[in-house]
Amino acid sequence: MSETPASTRSDAPTKRVPQVRPATEGWTQKKDAEGRPLLQFASPRRGKPPVHLADLTPDERVQKVKELGLPGFRAKQLATHYFTHYTSDPANMTDLPAAQRDELVAGMLPPLLTEVRRLETDRGDTIKFLWRLHDGALVESVLMRYPGRITLCVSSQAGCGMNCPFCATGQAGLTRNMSTAEIIEQIVRANRLIADGGLGGKKADDHSMERGSNIVFMGMGEPLANYKRVMDAVRIMVAPQPDGLGMSARGITVSTVGLVPAIHKLADENIPVTFALSLHAPDDQLRDELIPVNSRWKVDEALDAAREYFEKTGRRVSIEYALIKDMNDHAWRADLLAEKLNARGRGWVHVNPIPLNPTPGSIWTASEKAVQDEFVRRLNDAGIPTTLRDTRGKEIDGACGQLVATTEDEAAAAAMA
Ligand code: SAH
Repeated sequence: MSETPASTRSDAPTKRVPQVRPATEGWTQKKDAEGRPLLQFASPRRGKPPVHLADLTPDERVQKVKELGLPGFRAKQLATHYFTHYTSDPANMTDLPAAQRDELVAGMLPPLLTEVRRLETDRGDTIKFLWRLHDGALVESVLMRYPGRITLCVSSQAGCGMNCPFCATGQAGLTRNMSTAEIIEQIVRANRLIADGGLGGKKADDHSMERGSNIVFMGMGEPLANYKRVMDAVRIMVAPQPDGLGMSARGITVSTVGLVPAIHKLADENIPVTFALSLHAPDDQLRDELIPVNSRWKVDEALDAAREYFEKTGRRVSIEYALIKDMNDHAWRADLLAEKLNARGRGWVHVNPIPLNPTPGSIWTASEKAVQDEFVRRLNDAGIPTTLRDTRGKEIDGACGQLVATTEDEAAAAAMA
């Protein structure tokens, strides 16, 4: 597989000007003392969030309830309130003894997320939440109604250590890992809002269940850098009610920059979640700049790991590709991507290009419509199913790569604290 630049490839496009300038001109990669791209894998030490029912296994929940001086079967009642009625409010829990109710709830369902701000699109079918965590860290989640499904985009870390230049979250650095229960609580709170009729856009002929059906780990953070808590959260999502949320693994998408050892681990978990790889460039030369972690795990290694995920789980994987004007949107890159995917077999992958969403201060813009279409057409012609992803939530800065807590958000959160 060659990675020759457009100017020397025999199939180089003649109509378009080939890229000549450095790929990420105007942006300098942050480097560590040894001159390697700055990546933050370890979560800085901060006060731990309170332990919550959703951090515990069903057995541990029983144990903890007993420690609080109540019979173990109360654990199941609490789990039912939390995972099926989406409530942490003791006033709703009339099946619990009134005298101990408050104490039990305080011990098992401590508050984890304080809502700071909620933004909605005009149609009300997309809602972005800004949450304050117990230590003041801020995260966001985005709820979206589509025909026949409701998708929640969740955060797995406050901030992100992967430093991708085109992503607003990546530019802000990693504050800390989120706990399992903090991840789950985003879903429970969204389900509460849906159950209360707070998500607009429902069509008269839509009879789908009124709760989140799909979860995408595409909010803040690199989920595979917070592997254990993310996987514990996934296990709770798929556990039958009332032990968990009773969701289908297929409706859960784990999206990663390509932490190869963690992809191998994920493939061995035996939980058929949908796997998405944020590739954004088929050649190492450009991907080294766009996805700094490419300095550790190269394009071919990431693609091999994605292919292995397909082989072990039978789940078709998805390749994410933000189309950035004159940077990664060249026809020859579409061809090279198709070549690399086809070299690993047929029918195992689909490509999801998305026009770049604007981020504050960014020097890049989305590809032009005609260029997007050409990119998609070339992949489809090569036999790779490719569909352009929508940029839902753009007007409320809730689209991919736009999640970042601004100083204004911080001021609002501080005023509430
Ligand atoms: N860290 C994970 C998940 C979070 S981002 C990952 O990188 O996969 C979810 C998706 O949004 C990723 O594919 C990411 O590359 C993409 N993204 C980031 N910034 C974007 C932007 N400005 N426009 C469009 N997509 C973007």
